[in-house]
Amino acid sequence: MKLTILGSGGAIPTPRPFCQCIICRKARKLGEPYKRNSSSLFIQDINGVIDCGEDIADSLNKRNIQKIDNLFITHWHPDHTFGLRPILQANLDFEKDKPYKKINLYVPKKTFETLKEKISAIDYFINVQKLVVLHLVDDGDKIKIGDMKISVVGYKGKQSDIYAYLIESKGKKVLYAPCDTISFDNYKNFSNLDLLINECGLFSGDKTEISFSALMERIREIKPKKTIITHIEEIELNEFGEKHFEKSKKQYPDVNFDFAYDGMKIKI
Ligand SMILES: [Zn+2]
Ligand SMILES: [Zn+2]
Repeated sequence: MKLTILGSGGAIPTPRPFCQCIICRKARKLGEPYKRNSSSLFIQDINGVIDCGEDIADSLNKRNIQKIDNLFITHWHPDHTFGLRPILQANLDFEKDKPYKKINLYVPKKTFETLKEKISAIDYFINVQKLVVLHLVDDGDKIKIGDMKISVVGYKGKQSDIYAYLIESKGKKVLYAPCDTISFDNYKNFSNLDLLINECGLFSGDKTEISFSALMERIREIKPKKTIITHIEEIELNEFGEKHFEKSKKQYPDVNFDFAYDGMKIKI
């Protein structure tokens, strides 16, 4: 399977507007790989995208992606869903107020209830402009698209607010868990992954999010063949500096991991 990291940024993409820290100034001046859009993954085999933050149009244009058939949502947070408008309305014929094409939108049931409250326009996109074919999914559901199987993984089973997706094709397994994995109670069920794409966790060890060191311990437990670390927060890079990437690789030489960057291509 072929995957592309469309965005590797955190809750606030890098550069953060207004910020004059060294990380943001460099990202503003040099662009990629220092610039990081909201976390999002492109699955080339099925023209699929997982999550769409506010800057999804920029991410899709940067990779010259020409169509999206399938869009998956992990949870309602803005950095994962506030790009629903640009990605869905990109298929709208504004003169006729009709879609050129519809996107299959996969949203966990519980997430959808919250999404309707947080983004009330979603009802308009679905029921008036008819831009999507809505698939309400739940923990344990398996979605078959071509040769690919995508399983819905609730961090706390069917009571979850946050989900990951397990992507399987031709005997390979990739788990995409880009955000809020502190609540991922079921992670031990995933001990045979070819690739884990996981949020970074906080170097600072703040208790509201998983810490980077706790993430490394999890990886040691479930032993994916490789891990790519995404959802990298500007505020953490600002505090710890870019050199912390190399430092943390040296600190965990037994863990096979790399930090993501926007446009990173993955073939597995
Ligand atoms: Zn900054
Ligand atoms: Zn997030």
